[in-house]
Amino acid sequence: MTHTGRHFLQIPGPTNTPDRVLRAMAAPTLDHRGPEFAELAGEVIDGIRPVFGTTRPVVIYPSSGTGAWEAALVNTLSPGDRVLCFETGHFATLWQEMARNLGLDVQVIPGDWRHGVDPQRVADELTADTERAVKAVLVVHNETSTGVTSRVAEVREAIDSTGHPALLLVDTISSLGSIDYRHDEWGVDVTVGGSQKGLMLPPGLGFNAVSEKALEASETAKLSRSFWDWRPILAANEKGAFPYTPATHLLYGLREALLMLQEEGLPNVFARHQRHAEATRLAVRGWGLEVLCADEREHSGSLTGVIVPADHDADKIRAVILDQYNMSLGAGLGKLAGRVFRIGHLGDFNDLMLAGTLAGVQMGLSVAGVPVDPSGINAALQRLQLP
Ligand SMILES: *Cc1c(COP(=O)(O)O)cnc(C)c1O
Repeated sequence: MTHTGRHFLQIPGPTNTPDRVLRAMAAPTLDHRGPEFAELAGEVIDGIRPVFGTTRPVVIYPSSGTGAWEAALVNTLSPGDRVLCFETGHFATLWQEMARNLGLDVQVIPGDWRHGVDPQRVADELTADTERAVKAVLVVHNETSTGVTSRVAEVREAIDSTGHPALLLVDTISSLGSIDYRHDEWGVDVTVGGSQKGLMLPPGLGFNAVSEKALEASETAKLSRSFWDWRPILAANEKGAFPYTPATHLLYGLREALLMLQEEGLPNVFARHQRHAEATRLAVRGWGLEVLCADEREHSGSLTGVIVPADHDADKIRAVILDQYNMSLGAGLGKLAGRVFRIGHLGDFNDLMLAGTLAGVQMGLSVAGVPVDPSGINAALQRLQLP
């Protein structure tokens, strides 16, 4: 089928890159050791901090989010160190696999992929760890495979309540710039981010926000590292430089994206995402379908996971929607393959884009033969008439 008009990219990342950001990147390549670059670097190195809710350094890598995961581990840990992890979904599982591959002792608390990290369980496990073998707690803030957001502030309180010295490492790849997050206030040691979700950039930048305690840990950490080593990067950053050729064009884009977030105001950005998430849940429930997230406190602002009836294949529904309406939705990942699809509503997005998205999902479900209540979308449209 020939498609006209704009493709609807409603996967939960990569997200739609705003025209402003695309234009900012359409620039000649510049000398990454010259004064013009130093100015750009200075602006983005400083400008990214408020997005993490930190006044401390943020390391920017030319990498995917997966690279920034590795950086968080190799800069803070040593071979055989125990890390406490939670099976909240596909991305948490991948980060755990990486930790295992790097030679860490990975303790996994099983989960049902419908709940976030249980803060009480964190407290229980750390209390039981009288030998202080656990060196870090790993949390995925927004599980992109499920649409469940873990309560990081409560996890921090749980760790503090035990007096345990473990570091707290948090993945915010699909929540940064979409869901309220506070690196400093919540006492997170390393926050991992990526460019292609809430930050509205193409893929290709990874981030580590680093606490004082994490920086201290990096002095004695013994996992092998070279490219990912924070120290030479932070030293070069002080002079507006990098120890290698940085992704200059993505940094042009980052400067523009940071300006857009600043213009809207982060609290407004977060409220917009929550409102769109709420409208999406109203539509899903209006259709008579079930939202994957099973805890009202943990609904994601960036995406919604939808369970399809047992006699239907979520991937076939997505294929119909792509073919007929030119819209991409997120697939069920890992053990949710075929059972779930995911609606991304993050990044550069507005009410009518959401209305179009939900209309496409509703029509696609009908065309694919899933029995849905066609008045389902109305609840969402009613919600979008309110602030
Ligand atoms: C997308 C994502 C990743 C992986 O990022 P890549 O850029 O694909 O390496 C990791 N964690 C979460 C929560 C994500 O959403």
